[in-house]
Amino acid sequence: MDNKLFTPGPLNTQLIVKEAMLHDMGSRDKEFLSVVKEIREELLNLAGVSSDEDFDSVLMQGSGTYGVESVISTVIPTSGHLLLITNGAYGDRIGQMTKAYQIRTTTLSYKENIVPPADDVEEALKNDTSITHIAIIHCETTTGIFNNIQSIGELSKKYNKIYIVDAMSSFGAVPIDIRGIGIDFLISSSNKCIEGVPGFSFVIFRKSVLEQCKENARTVSLDLYGQWIYMKKSHQFRFTPPIQSILAFRKAIEALHQEGGISKRSERYQQNYNLLIRGTEEIGLKTYLEKKDQGYIITSFLFPGDPNFDFTLFYEKLHERGQVIYQGKLSDTDCFRIGNIGQLYTEDITNLLSAIREVLGEMNVTF
Ligand SMILES: *Cc1c(COP(=O)(O)O)cnc(C)c1O
Repeated sequence: MDNKLFTPGPLNTQLIVKEAMLHDMGSRDKEFLSVVKEIREELLNLAGVSSDEDFDSVLMQGSGTYGVESVISTVIPTSGHLLLITNGAYGDRIGQMTKAYQIRTTTLSYKENIVPPADDVEEALKNDTSITHIAIIHCETTTGIFNNIQSIGELSKKYNKIYIVDAMSSFGAVPIDIRGIGIDFLISSSNKCIEGVPGFSFVIFRKSVLEQCKENARTVSLDLYGQWIYMKKSHQFRFTPPIQSILAFRKAIEALHQEGGISKRSERYQQNYNLLIRGTEEIGLKTYLEKKDQGYIITSFLFPGDPNFDFTLFYEKLHERGQVIYQGKLSDTDCFRIGNIGQLYTEDITNLLSAIREVLGEMNVTF
C-alpha cells in the first residue's frame, strides 16, 4: 500500500490512472495524437468554454512552473508592464521569472494571510496606465488562501489588461468561470486536482490574445505560441512528450467525469476539509489563516506552542504510519501543511486524525 499523501501534489491517484501508463507508444503514433486532441478539448470542456468562443488549450512539458514560465515569457512582450499581485511563494516565483526576463514589473506584495484587496489593484491601475498585464495566484498553495480572482478579473476588463491566473492547485477542484471572470490565461498542471501524474502543465487561453504573441518568446522550449501553433496543426508536441503521463491524464479526466465533474469533486474535497478542521480543532491545533480566507485545498497549521513539539519527529512518526504531511513555506511563521486533495476520502482523513493524536501523545505535546 502506498502512503497517503496529504500534500499539494503530486497526489494519490487511482489505480486505473496508473494502469493507463503501462504502454509504449511513439510520439507520432496516431492513437497518441488522438489522445492529445481529446485532452485539449476536454480541458476546454472542464473550463466551460469552447474553441468557437475564442478559447483553446495547449499542453507544455515539465511541471507547473514550466507552464507559468511559458506564459510569462511568451505573453508579456519586452515593451510590456506586469502588475504582479502576490501573497506567497508562488506569486513571488512569478516575480523571479519577470526578473530573469527583465520584464518591467510593479509588485503589490501582501503578507501571506492577507487577501489582496481589489481597491489596491484598481489604484495601481489608475496610477500607472502603462501596465499591460495582471498576474495573480488563485489558491496560493503556500498557505491555502483563496484569492479574489473574480473582482480583479473585473478590473482587468474595465481597464483593458491581459489577465493571467495561476490556478495550479484549484483547477479541477473549484469551479472557475474563465469567461465570466475575464481570464485570458489560466495555468494548471497534470498532477494537481485533475488527479493525474506529474509530467506536464496546461494553459487555457484566449486565442485572439496568444495570436498577438508570435515573436515574444525568450526561450525556444517554453515558447507557448510555438507549441500552440505546432499542436494545432499536428496534435504533436514540438519535442518529446511525456507519453505515459498524458495517457494517465486522459484516464484521470474520465475518472473526474465519473465522479460527477468538478462540482462533485469540489464537494468531496470540502467534506475532507471540514472533517480535517473539526478534528484538528478538537485536538487543539490552530490554523494560520482566518476561516473566511481559508480555501479547502490545503491548510496551514501553526506549530503547537509546547516545546515538546518537534516537526521533524512529528513528520517522521506520521510517515512511519503511512501518512505524509507537508512542511510549511511561510516567511515568518512556523507552520506545517495538510492537503486534502487527490484520492482522499473521509476515511483517510479520520485515519490521519487518529495518527496525529497518537503521535502528539507519544511526543507528550499538550495544548
Ligand atoms: C504546485 C504549484 C505550482 C507549480 O509547482 P511545480 O512544482 O512546478 O509543479 C505553481 N503554482 C501553484 C499555486 C502551485 O500550487
